[in-house]
Amino acid sequence: MKKPFNIQTLIRPSIQKLVPYSSARNEYEGSEGIFLDANENPFNTGLNRYPDPVHTTLKKAISASRHVSENNLLLGNGSDEVIDLLFRTVCEPGKHTCITLPPTYGMYSVSAAINDVEVVEVPLTENFQPVTEKILQHITSETRIIFFCSPNNPSGNCLAENSIKEILNRFQGLVVIDEAYIDFSTQTSWLTYLTEYPNLVVLQTFSKAWGLAGIRLGMLFANQELIRALHKVKPPYNVNALTQRIALQALENTAQTHSWIQAVISQRDVVKSVLSTLSFVEKVYPSDANFLLVKCKRAAEVFAFLKQEKIIVRNRSQVPGCEGCLRISIGTMEENIQLLEKLKQFDEQENHPEI
Ligand SMILES: *Cc1c(COP(=O)(O)O)cnc(C)c1O
Repeated sequence: MKKPFNIQTLIRPSIQKLVPYSSARNEYEGSEGIFLDANENPFNTGLNRYPDPVHTTLKKAISASRHVSENNLLLGNGSDEVIDLLFRTVCEPGKHTCITLPPTYGMYSVSAAINDVEVVEVPLTENFQPVTEKILQHITSETRIIFFCSPNNPSGNCLAENSIKEILNRFQGLVVIDEAYIDFSTQTSWLTYLTEYPNLVVLQTFSKAWGLAGIRLGMLFANQELIRALHKVKPPYNVNALTQRIALQALENTAQTHSWIQAVISQRDVVKSVLSTLSFVEKVYPSDANFLLVKCKRAAEVFAFLKQEKIIVRNRSQVPGCEGCLRISIGTMEENIQLLEKLKQFDEQENHPEI
């Protein structure tokens, strides 16, 4: 059973004590008036005012669309910023540690290194599933965060629910589930468990399904007390006015996003089935995301051939656990047709008796 635990004990004492910067826009929240409090340019350019530091309108819209209270939501300059904020809020540099499950998203360990937080790696199995007992064995009194990426980048699969639940129940630190690709998955989001587990942190992003990687908007959902602490640490204007505006527009046009998601999912199936017919393809891993991990004979040659044809995929063959693998994002139908044609061409060359 769950041991009772207080999220406050995870927050660094310096952050607990911290009196956050209070901007002009924090101190007067009305929208009507003559604003002479922030040294802005008074002439209207559409952007002459500082943005809302607590993202009130945007958070309302996101919380309505995700059915989660605004009090459980923090917005950042991409998921990358919210990952960094997590480290800075709960990990003492040079003391606390985190656990990652490679092969996985590279930013967890980069962000950990920047914050001088040691990373303990507990590799996924051959089929890219967590080994619960191993994870539990590697937890120490200094472990503050465990990162699960589900669907996982670069493998594409969702991580076993029972494994994550066991860790949520038995670990007295933060369990982060990065759901950057959740919209392409048949599995339901962990957001539904937010009220059940005080140590659950769910990350989502506007960079993938929403088609807005360029605006840099990441979402972090968690226990209210953690959200409050993270707000103290974040830079006052971490989500700019243009980003807030564009994201709001996207939330008003969810039909567009849903149709993109459907298109990508159906193309994923097409690409997968054609790839499976190619003789140099050893395995196409199951994917719940908008990319496929493909194990190839001579992966480096396939990669170089595609590159020379100006088709750029990600060579993951040097990554432990991904030997011989390319990661291929799902493009538009036209792009996928070109990719598959080139790969068939490569296949025919390879099978030529003189080579
Ligand atoms: C793409 C991706 C993100 C998105 O990061 P942003 O900073 O929000 O663009 C987050 N996590 C994973 C695993 C990803 O692959």
